[in-house]
Amino acid sequence: MASRVYFADMRTRYGRNLMDKVGQLFEMAGFGEFISKGDMVAIKLHVGEPGNLAYLSPPLVRRVVDRIKAFGGKPFLTDANTLYTGRRSNAIDHTIAAIENGFSYATVGAPFIVADGLNGQESVTVPLEGEGLQLKEARIGAALAHADVLIAMSHFKGHEATGFGGALKNIGMGGGSRAGKQVQHSELKPLVDPVRCTTCGRCLKVCPVKAIAYTETMKALIDPAACYGCGECVVVCRDRAIAVNWREGRKGSLQERMTEYAFALVQTKAGKCGFVNFVMNVTPDCDCADWSDLPIVPNLGILASRDPVAIDQASVDLVNRAPGLAGTALAGFTETEDKFRVLHSDVDWSIQLAHGERIGLGSREYELVAIDK
Ligand code: SF4
Ligand code: SF4
Repeated sequence: MASRVYFADMRTRYGRNLMDKVGQLFEMAGFGEFISKGDMVAIKLHVGEPGNLAYLSPPLVRRVVDRIKAFGGKPFLTDANTLYTGRRSNAIDHTIAAIENGFSYATVGAPFIVADGLNGQESVTVPLEGEGLQLKEARIGAALAHADVLIAMSHFKGHEATGFGGALKNIGMGGGSRAGKQVQHSELKPLVDPVRCTTCGRCLKVCPVKAIAYTETMKALIDPAACYGCGECVVVCRDRAIAVNWREGRKGSLQERMTEYAFALVQTKAGKCGFVNFVMNVTPDCDCADWSDLPIVPNLGILASRDPVAIDQASVDLVNRAPGLAGTALAGFTETEDKFRVLHSDVDWSIQLAHGERIGLGSREYELVAIDK
């Protein structure tokens, strides 16, 4: 059955700006129907790696915060720490990055709470059961799992590992704890950089399968045959000596696991989930990059739905039907029907949508309902 996706274009006029449109989308998509007085409402977003300027605009988030409060909810902004080392890999750096990028209480009207705690080790294990699932459980950031309601606000853009990043990427990969993220990348085996390794021994202590030992030169070494990619060693290494080979993660199973993590998070909310996608500043790469290249299409609009698969399908269709912009990473391929394949040629982005539909997370069929007639 087709899911409803509400759509606001980018036109504005006196008395009706984009924030007004976000508020209207919130109402039309029925998000207020599942918020009860006192509900803790997680607004899952990506605050942007400092240096990136394409991430969500804080005043647009403020409008959603205000709508949640109007229905009696207690909103908080949240994201889980990153697996890779950057400015968002622990709660201290992550919170500072959020404030630097404008997500302070003064601007947004809600606190930013890192979902998986100080070091990315606070998670809730959510069991997974059903047809076609690869995983038996998912390790979700604790604050996300414990919230009563989920509103995912996602900047829709390209992504080097999954083709595009939208709602599924935001809540699936983004909602997993650091170890949960490594599980999603579990065909990847972390590698130790012997130059950086200070022989502190932390990784040897936490590895659940004893896959790490010291070499003759007293540097940590991971046995790839024993390692199952849980990510604990990446989390505990304070010397940034353990890295992930990201290019290995372009295969389909990464997208499938990511979608199953999204499924797990949605299952903790008993249907109390809403999704808003911003098809604006559609950059070639993720907001995890500390830069943001030119958008590949004009700003196209804002979408809201209760179905994360449908909203991502509608968003990718909008991008692929739009004229590509010259002078961008699309180079000579502005007329192509699949812009994300031009950008990330070895990634089939449709895997995440097909798997989401297969496991019952949502529908790729949608009815686009424009709020501006
Ligand atoms: S935690 Fe990092 S620095 Fe410590 S032994 Fe392991 S790889 Fe080396
Ligand atoms: S990823 Fe997990 S299993 Fe693999 S070496 Fe690190 S701690 Fe051990």
